[in-house]
Amino acid sequence: TYVVTDACILCKYTDCVEVCPVDCFYEGENFLAIKPDECIDCGVCEPECPVDAIKPDTEDPDGKWTELNARLSEMW
Ligand code: SF4
Repeated sequence: TYVVTDACILCKYTDCVEVCPVDCFYEGENFLAIKPDECIDCGVCEPECPVDAIKPDTEDPDGKWTELNARLSEMW
């Protein structure tokens, strides 16, 4: 799955939301989160992000952002 990381905070350009084929972005007040069990790992959103905030979860070795995306996308 892909995850949204800290560069997204207060950014919210939402270019990524528009390209996601399965609509798995969830929007909070100042952050976007990807719901891990809905993401199909297509990678389309990653280059769309103007601040480079979206990464594959393999680049989140301690799982901090992965956990946060999962938790927030459940809440929103
Ligand atoms: Fe959506 Fe694909 Fe990005 Fe997952 S990798 S959030 S399915 S655009």
